[in-house]
Amino acid sequence: MSMLHSKPKEDTYLHKGMRNQLVQLLRDKKIKDERVLTAIGNIPRHFFLDPAFERHAYEDKAFPILADQTISQPYTVALQTELLELKKFDKVLEIGTGSAYQACVLAEMGISLYTIERQKELYDYVGKFFFLKKYFNIKRFYGDGYEGLPTYGPFDKIIVTAAAPYVPPKLIEQLKPGGIFVVPVGDENGQKMLRITKDKDGTLHTQELGAASFVPMLQGKNM
Ligand code: SAH
Repeated sequence: MSMLHSKPKEDTYLHKGMRNQLVQLLRDKKIKDERVLTAIGNIPRHFFLDPAFERHAYEDKAFPILADQTISQPYTVALQTELLELKKFDKVLEIGTGSAYQACVLAEMGISLYTIERQKELYDYVGKFFFLKKYFNIKRFYGDGYEGLPTYGPFDKIIVTAAAPYVPPKLIEQLKPGGIFVVPVGDENGQKMLRITKDKDGTLHTQELGAASFVPMLQGKNM
């Protein structure tokens, strides 16, 4: 699998056609930010999947990747991205690099991305991924997302792509005043998408945005 990941793959008219249909589906599901839709339309999601799942790459579904993790559902990727209200040159922190699909969607939007993965196997695998070489604005880190990246922060926007049992306090600290933090909170019995904003004076506001379904955000690093 890792050998396959290092070689460029083809992006055919068939793939592009399926991708346009996926973008239309996301539009029907009320994703409105055209920049998000353009980013999804630009990224060959089949590059990110195991060959066994490639023909399903443009279905609006999550799929398994390495180390028992998942590539998020396109709708979820689009929704979380839209909720961040990205501006060009924003400094963005992502927890849970996983396949790096969400990372590429963010990077397409002209921001500067810092992304952390706790699974060494996945971190190394993504390091060999040919497609990532085109994104100079993605910096990857192997580490524990609960710690954030204190030496690189604070961040304009923070996105967590795993379900946190509680809102990680260090990530709140690393959010700039005026910043936006999107994080699913809960466990296997139920999760909610939260959007937390920090006022200029540091006051926090939390909006609940409906049910979510993510793999858990785990403590510590995993070799
Ligand atoms: N954004 C990813 C989604 C991957 S699933 C994508 O587009 O493919 C969530 C990821 O979060 C998994 O890879 C998991 O290993 C990672 N993760 C879970 N807990 C973490 C933590 N504490 N720090 C960093 N990454 C974490």
